[in-house]
Amino acid sequence: VKSLAAILEKSGRELIIDEIDLPENLKSGQVLVKVITSGICGAQVNEINAVKGPDQFLPHLLGHEGFCEVLDVGPDVSTIRVGDNAIMHWRPGLGIQSETPSYRWKNRALNAGWVTTFNQFAIVSENRLTEILPGGVSKEILPLLGCALTTAFGVIEREAKIAPEDSVLIFGAGGVGLTMIKVLNGMKLKDICVLDITKEKLQLAKKFGATKVIQFNDKASTSNQIKQYFLPGLPRIAIDTTGDVRCIELAYELTCSDGTALLVGVPKLGHNASIYTLPLHFGKRLIGSKGGDSNPHTDIPILVEKLKTKELNFDDFPTHKYSLLKINDALADLREGRTGRMIIDFDMQ
Ligand SMILES: [Zn+2]
Repeated sequence: VKSLAAILEKSGRELIIDEIDLPENLKSGQVLVKVITSGICGAQVNEINAVKGPDQFLPHLLGHEGFCEVLDVGPDVSTIRVGDNAIMHWRPGLGIQSETPSYRWKNRALNAGWVTTFNQFAIVSENRLTEILPGGVSKEILPLLGCALTTAFGVIEREAKIAPEDSVLIFGAGGVGLTMIKVLNGMKLKDICVLDITKEKLQLAKKFGATKVIQFNDKASTSNQIKQYFLPGLPRIAIDTTGDVRCIELAYELTCSDGTALLVGVPKLGHNASIYTLPLHFGKRLIGSKGGDSNPHTDIPILVEKLKTKELNFDDFPTHKYSLLKINDALADLREGRTGRMIIDFDMQ
């Protein structure tokens, strides 16, 4: 089998769109799928830019959230069958964790992890797939269940433990921030205040349910504007998705005395936040997110149901759609902060 794929050959460069060869036979726990739609998130931009240090796996494939159809299953696979629709996700779920697939490109080995979604045909480890009945939910929203939406849901429900009566402050209206705004909006929260540096993202935040948007300026004036909005109190929950230490400091300083500041964004190495720790002794909490701690096999069916009943309304997602051939344009738009939430649609030319 051959597949069209976006390949990372050198860090920091554009992806190469080319044909790759899939192995003849599936191994224990491996599943062959046809990718229908894939999400793109900041993790892939970081991977391309090798932010965690030199990339040992070049050349390799990418992508970790998708929606697919199962074409074939290898030995020992028990949780998924040929013809099923499934969500492709990066966190391990039910079933076997197989060997990673041995793709070939230009007669050399092409590396890939347990799941990749920037290739039309993919061999995926059973435990990176969760079967769903997609009826009533569009293929354009479903890939978000592989990462963005399950993360946002987990952060809100499990880590921040947000209740409908809480007031919330969110730093950053990128993919994660916008998805959280949507989920909070579905919970009918009264105060969802969102900060970002770009006007376009703040407009999207407003459209998706933010009750107040503030353009991040310097720390002092931004802090004043937030305090003004939440008068006479302070928000119960502040979530940083930016990793910018000024935002982390504000998230901590501006939560109420028994509130929670939750850090989702990770600062660059050496960027240290400075906080006064006394309030931590009196009930304030500062915690680092573990990616929502999501369990794909329990969370994905819950979220599919919420999407079907429109308790979660993602009708205006994604904000942008690209064919695989235009993936480099998509990545450039994501880097420049020009888009909200984007997908690759493999049916597009
Ligand atoms: Zn992701």
